[in-house]
Amino acid sequence: MSSIFYINGNLVPAEQAVIPAMDRGFLFGDGVYEVMAVMDGLLIEFERHAARLARSLAEVGIRNPLPRDALLARCRELVRHNGLREGSVYVQVTRGADTKRDFAFPAAVEPTVMMYVSERALRANPLAESGVRVASVPDMRWQRRDIKSLSLMAQVLAKQAAQASGAFEALMVDQDGVVTEGSSSSALLVDAQGRIVVRPLSNDILPGCTRAAVLALAASRGTVVDERAFTLDECRQASELVLTSSLQFVLPVIELDGRPVGDGRPGPAARELRQLYVEHALASAL
Ligand code: PMP
Repeated sequence: MSSIFYINGNLVPAEQAVIPAMDRGFLFGDGVYEVMAVMDGLLIEFERHAARLARSLAEVGIRNPLPRDALLARCRELVRHNGLREGSVYVQVTRGADTKRDFAFPAAVEPTVMMYVSERALRANPLAESGVRVASVPDMRWQRRDIKSLSLMAQVLAKQAAQASGAFEALMVDQDGVVTEGSSSSALLVDAQGRIVVRPLSNDILPGCTRAAVLALAASRGTVVDERAFTLDECRQASELVLTSSLQFVLPVIELDGRPVGDGRPGPAARELRQLYVEHALASAL
């Protein structure tokens, strides 16, 4: 598949997709991003991603260069030019490139926009069948985790620590011993009564697009959704522990810190939520 990037209004081949060294995204991580899935050449959960991008930009005071309609047009154009059927679209907006390296916002710079696509199998995911292992790590992030910031050092270190211990994902735990989320996923558990327990939205976690869709689907099926903070210990006692994200959709967790979760096999709730989510994603794709 040819690889065409979108940089500041232009479609360019990958080797010409370059950003100035003084870009504030590069210098400071001063920008935000989105990752959305593509299936059958269509965008999954587009409205939620467009809304979250707009919100992240507003929260950090970057002018939105990609309001909904522009974002939709650009994403579709990039998917079409790359002939992408299944995979992802990455969208990154930084505050722009300046001549000086000042922390404070520069007076007049244009945001830098970078987008590219990746081909990847999403529906056929062996991890959904096998389940995944997670390792708990301290959540070392800042206090605005609701912003999808480019500054991902804490998550890079969390994922690396988890993978070095043989796990697939890091389950981050705050200073009160309460689970926040995965390093790149939202977390929920299913208790012995079949209720979903999930941390409520706040500045402590990213408002996951998949999380929102999955919770709405579960509620519409009559599942009780208990939005409250939950501890690592509750995860150990849970019937099921589940991760959600735009590219992994819904994944069952079979092991936490080397110990089985539930009966140590992917559970029925995760399987059902994944199936419901994929059906919903395809039906609402743009
Ligand atoms: N939390 C964090 C920290 C993430 O990086 C992600 C992945 N974007 C998620 C949750 C899942 O969010 P979404 O379902 O929107 O991909």
